[in-house]
Amino acid sequence: MSDLEELAARARRFVEEHCIPHEVTAELNGGRLPAATKAAIVAAAREAGMVGLDHAPEHGGQGLDLLEQVVVHEAFGRNTNGVWWHIPSVANVLAHGTGDQIERYLRPGLRGERSECYAITEADAGSDPGGVVGTARRRGDRWVIDCEKWFSTGGDIADFFIVHVLAIDGDGTNLGPTLFLVDTGPGVEIIDDPPFTHTFPVGHPTVRFTGVELADAQRLGAIGAGDALTNEWFIEERVHIAARCVGAMERLLEIGTAWALEREQFGQRIMDFQGVSFPLADAACAALSMKLLTRHVAQLADAGADPKLVHGKASMAKLAASEAAGRVADAVVQVLGGRGYMRTNAAERLWREVRVDRIWEGTSEIQRLVVARGLEKRGVDAMLSL
Ligand SMILES: Cc1cc2nc3c(=O)[nH]c(=O)nc-3n(C[C@H](O)[C@H](O)[C@H](O)COP(=O)(O)OP(=O)(O)OC[C@H]3O[C@@H](n4cnc5c(N)ncnc54)[C@H](O)[C@@H]3O)c2cc1C
Repeated sequence: MSDLEELAARARRFVEEHCIPHEVTAELNGGRLPAATKAAIVAAAREAGMVGLDHAPEHGGQGLDLLEQVVVHEAFGRNTNGVWWHIPSVANVLAHGTGDQIERYLRPGLRGERSECYAITEADAGSDPGGVVGTARRRGDRWVIDCEKWFSTGGDIADFFIVHVLAIDGDGTNLGPTLFLVDTGPGVEIIDDPPFTHTFPVGHPTVRFTGVELADAQRLGAIGAGDALTNEWFIEERVHIAARCVGAMERLLEIGTAWALEREQFGQRIMDFQGVSFPLADAACAALSMKLLTRHVAQLADAGADPKLVHGKASMAKLAASEAAGRVADAVVQVLGGRGYMRTNAAERLWREVRVDRIWEGTSEIQRLVVARGLEKRGVDAMLSL
């Protein structure tokens, strides 16, 4: 067994033994799990080497390359209700932090002592983060943050936020998008926490930051480096999402195929009806081709390819895999008939849960824009190269 196969098998075992058994409980309890269950999941994740996949070992992570991260995320994608989200995690951009920020945020984040929320989106800035109007105004050697962030995943439990805002100099000059680390506390309030389609461990609240004063030591990265850092996060997340869509499709196919072979109607297995078997055949083609595409993008990134080409291909993978997962989930729900509409059925949960993969980290339309730009700027040959 190669090292990659061993890692994939280890991740799969972790998901099968420590995440999947808790899915229905989570579904029936608004995504929440008892504290003891969460602690057991975290301990098992630590034991299996699943904490901080993309972070350096000296910061408490696993130091995996992107292909290795992808095979782990394929396993995570099999899981519903985000049970694996209980694994401590910290956004990759924190690796650009100062020594002090790594000590105060990154290491404790991976130890599970702190939890974060990466807040970019605003009411009028979604697909176009260039429309962000939230500000960090410089006052002497301090910054004052004022913004309202939407869909802030984990904002309901976070004890710190990575906020993407415009840095404004003392004289009013716009210094460009910049990231800041903001601890929860005075001036940080949740103003709305609506339910969403999936039933997950954390919410996606609207969070308002009012006159939050920060020392310059809370700035993450250079002034004006916000777009570059956030892009770095987007690209990795897009590849991870594509990998999870692959895992979701694999589990859906297992469920659909097993049922089609077991279920009989009109005196025969429903697998023998082409109306049932053909969608499963199409789903198998989609799952394997998306696995190949996603792993290809990861290998390209690991080989140090032109970051712009990686950007374009990460969008190809995220776009194609999330759209395919939506089709596969819908087909498998249909194969299951009425049972596919039950929330206690994993296919139903995956059907709801993969929907957001066409929206977050850039909608399908935004991925198409990136891919089209890649065709124009880098050429068809480069975009289709293996
Ligand atoms: C569950 C969930 C969790 C999220 N978590 C986070 C988070 O943790 N942090 C964070 O900052 N954000 C988060 N988001 C926000 C997410 O990234 C945005 O919802 C997404 O980028 C789309 O922005 P929007 O909702 O404002 O839609 P809009 O940008 O208003 O888009 C509406 C529609 O117009 C289309 N559209 C827009 N521009 C174009 C164009 N140029 N060409 C073609 N079509 C276009 C879009 O594709 C979409 O179909 C989350 C969202 C959800 C649903």
